[in-house]
Amino acid sequence: MEQTLSIKPRVQEFLKGTKKLLINGEWVEAASGQTFETLDPSNGKVLAVVSEAGPEDVDRAVKAARQAFENGPWRKMSASERGRLIYKLADLMEAHQEELAQLETLDNGKPINETRNADVPLAIDHIRYYAGWTTKIMGQTIPVAGNYFNYTRHEPVGVVGQIIPWNFPLLMATWKLGAALATGCTIVLKPAEQTPLSALYLGQLALEAGIPAGVLNIVPGFGETAGAPLVDHPDVDKIAFTGSTSVGKMIMRQAAGTVKKISLELGGKSPNIILPDADMSKAIPGALMGIMFNQGQVCCAGSRLYIQKKSYDNVVADLASHAKNIKQGAGINPSTQIGPLVSQEQLERVGRYIELGKTEGAEVVAGGVYGQGEGYFVQPTIFADVNDEMTIAKEEIFGPVVSAMPFEDLDDVIRRANNSEYGLAAGLWTQDVKKAHYVANQLKAGTVWVNCYNVFDAASPFGGYKQSGIGREMGSYALDNYTEVKSVWINLN
Ligand code: ADP
Repeated sequence: MEQTLSIKPRVQEFLKGTKKLLINGEWVEAASGQTFETLDPSNGKVLAVVSEAGPEDVDRAVKAARQAFENGPWRKMSASERGRLIYKLADLMEAHQEELAQLETLDNGKPINETRNADVPLAIDHIRYYAGWTTKIMGQTIPVAGNYFNYTRHEPVGVVGQIIPWNFPLLMATWKLGAALATGCTIVLKPAEQTPLSALYLGQLALEAGIPAGVLNIVPGFGETAGAPLVDHPDVDKIAFTGSTSVGKMIMRQAAGTVKKISLELGGKSPNIILPDADMSKAIPGALMGIMFNQGQVCCAGSRLYIQKKSYDNVVADLASHAKNIKQGAGINPSTQIGPLVSQEQLERVGRYIELGKTEGAEVVAGGVYGQGEGYFVQPTIFADVNDEMTIAKEEIFGPVVSAMPFEDLDDVIRRANNSEYGLAAGLWTQDVKKAHYVANQLKAGTVWVNCYNVFDAASPFGGYKQSGIGREMGSYALDNYTEVKSVWINLN
C-alpha cells in the first residue's frame, strides 16, 4: 500500500454535508433544491455534494452584488481599509494553506506536492499583491488646451461575473478576485462544476476576513445553467472568463447582447523551441515539465516541441526515457509526480487525441496508455514524427501529450511557431543571448519563457495574442479589466 497523507480534520469536516452557495454573506441552498456531486479523480468516487446554482440563484447573487456595490460599505470605505481586509484574506489563506492544498488535490487530482508548493503559495501571493494595489490606483491630470482643468478617475467597473475553469481552481479564483477586489468591484464567481470546493473554502475565509456581505458571491453550477445566465444578466457590468476558446467565443457573442466589458483567457498550443546550443541537461527536463505539469491541463502548456534536426533523435530519446520515469499515482500520495486527469470526460477527450495521433501516422515513443484501472490516468505521452499539419500539432489537447517536431533553422522555426490560431505562450532554450532576444521579439505570444517554463508571478502579466484571449491578468495590467476611466473637465473661466 502506498503511503498517503492524513487528511486534516477541517478538510474532513468541510467535505461533510451539502456545500451551499454563498449569496449576500450567507450560505444558502439553491432555489431549485438541486445538488451535484464532485468526484475524486483518482478513483471516481463521490468526494462531496454541492448545491447547484441555477438562473434564479445567479439573479439573487447579482442583486446582492449590486446592492453591495451601490449601497454597501465596500465602496465607501477607504482604499487602505479595503486593502487591510484583502491582506487579512491572504493571511487567513496562509493559516489554512494545508487545508487548501489537500482540498485542491482531492477535488482536482493534482499532486499534493504541486498544490503545496505552487497552487496555494501562488494564490496567497496573488491576493496579497493586489491588497497592496488598493492604495495605488490613480488617474492622471492632463494638459488640455483652453482654460480647463482635466483629470481622470479610475473607478470600479461595478458588478463583475467571473467564470473559471477546473485546472487550477483556487489559483484561477484568486487571479480573478485579486484585481476585482482591489479596484472595489463586487463579484459573482462561478467555479467549474468539476472543482467547486476550494473556491467555497475561500468564500468561508473571505467572510472570516470581514469582506462585507455581497462583495463576494459564489455560485457553483454548470456552464449552461449558471455560467450563461451570469453572462446574460443585464445588471452585470463585466465578465471575466478563463476556459476553452469555444466557450470563450460563445461568451463573447452573448456578452454583445448587453455590451458587457469582457476579458478572456482561452486556449493555447504553445511552441517550445530547443536550439542546438541549449544546455540539454536543463532543456530536456524543462521541456518535459513544460508539457507534463498539472497533467498537461495547462492553457500555456508547451505542447508543440520544436527541436533542431541535428539534435532531434537524441533529444527525443532522452525525453522518452525521462517521461517513462515520471511517477504517476493519486495526487494525495506525496511521492506522486503526475496525477489523474480531472474527469472521465477529459480522459476520453485526451484518449481520442492519442488515437488520432496514431492514425495520423505519428509514433508513440513514450506512454500512449490511458484509462486503465480506476481513476482518470493518462501516461505521459510523447509523439515523434509529427508534422505541423497533424491534428495533434494544431489542436489543444489539454493533457500530458506532446508533439515533437524537427526544424531546420531559426527562421523556419519562428514561422512555424507563429503559424497557430493561438498565441498564449512560448518557450525557448538557448545559451546564445542574441538569439534569445531575437526569437523572443519575433514570437506572437503573450508570454515568452527563455531557459525556463511555467514561471509565474503575481506582478507579471499573463494573457494571449490571437484566439488565446483578450486582456491581461496579473500585474498592474489586470487593474484595467476592472476599472472605468472617467475624464472630468472643470471650466476655469
Ligand atoms: P472545459 O471544456 O475545459 O471544461 P469550459 O470552457 O467548458 O472548459 O469551462 C470553463 C468554465 O466555463 C466552467 O466554469 C464552465 O462551467 C463554464 N462554461 C461552460 N459553458 C458555458 C457557457 N455556455 N456559458 C458560460 N459559462 C460556461
